[in-house]
Amino acid sequence: MYFDHAATSFPKPPEVIRAVQAAMAECASPGRGGYREAMRAAEVVYICRLKCAALFDCEPEQVIFTSSATHGLNAAIKDLVNAGDRVVISGFEHNAVLRPLAAIGAEITVAGRALFRPEEIVRAFEAALTAETKAAVCTHVSNVFGYVLPLEQIAAICRKRHIPLIVDAAQSAGILPLSLRGLGAAYIAMPGHKGLMGPQGTGILLCGKIPERTLMEGGTGSLSKELHMPQFLPDRMEPGTCNVPGIAGLSAGIDGIERLGIPEIAERERALIRAVSYRLNRSRRVRCFTGADQTGVLSVQVEGEDCVHVAERLAEAGIAVRAGLHCAPLAHESAGTLEQGTVRISVSPFHTLQDAERLTDAMIM
Ligand code: PMP
Repeated sequence: MYFDHAATSFPKPPEVIRAVQAAMAECASPGRGGYREAMRAAEVVYICRLKCAALFDCEPEQVIFTSSATHGLNAAIKDLVNAGDRVVISGFEHNAVLRPLAAIGAEITVAGRALFRPEEIVRAFEAALTAETKAAVCTHVSNVFGYVLPLEQIAAICRKRHIPLIVDAAQSAGILPLSLRGLGAAYIAMPGHKGLMGPQGTGILLCGKIPERTLMEGGTGSLSKELHMPQFLPDRMEPGTCNVPGIAGLSAGIDGIERLGIPEIAERERALIRAVSYRLNRSRRVRCFTGADQTGVLSVQVEGEDCVHVAERLAEAGIAVRAGLHCAPLAHESAGTLEQGTVRISVSPFHTLQDAERLTDAMIM
């Protein structure tokens, strides 16, 4: 019983596994030759690019394939931020945002630490985004609490004040609607291996601008005589041979998402989390962190029991959850759970209410 979908979706759908295998059997290096296997690889990658563009409302060339959300966030942050620059972030950012900013030496302002109070987050961004702000970074959904941040409002403030916005969509891609055009963000980074159901080692960076700085340089199969990277996307941001089997799997994952539909996925996950928290709340030992704007991620604490112990106990019963700080100490600090951490339960749209019951029974036995 796997309840760690916020880390990576598992098991991957059979059609994703088949697509990975087929790509390994049929594909060579894309964009590097006119023979059949190279053309097939280029086609697989291009079809996935088209699907991503349709799903996230942008042009196909604005879709960059990365190895993870972390890779995309690094590329975005390192394009926009210099040492000493003032950057405004939400109080729910992951280390994939905090550590690159710290490595650059950015001056970080944390705006909005209110858990499940989106109006307060909007007010905090309103106050913090000033003429001195070089960039804003906001996670769409907290990976610890499933809290949906008021991204549309934050994006609107950024657009009005001409501040480039980087969105961490690690926990919303494939679960909530996302539009690059609508948000007008500079970048949206996401994994391919969580809500989009693709293999580990896949990710997407949506580019709302042409990056001035590149994270990596190398061969692109285009403008090869030139010493510098092409200015145009996606080539500018995709040097080297890409992960063709991974992208083939991601493409099949996106097909599955489209078949089920984002609204249905979001509703199923919400219903499951409601059922889990309703049952857990019957035990006075369990504290559930819930709110109106929540996806299929739930943090809980069990009174008198260390969260790591709870996760170990569940693992012995064959149930996978994650305990601790979930690579997001800032989110725990904002919610006041930094000392103890939490046990995180994260569902997939394919779980049933019976699965939820087995989990809650094991937790409060
Ligand atoms: N941001 C958030 C909010 C996440 O939940 C995660 C994954 N835990 C990441 C970034 C990093 O994603 P990836 O593992 O694909 O690099």
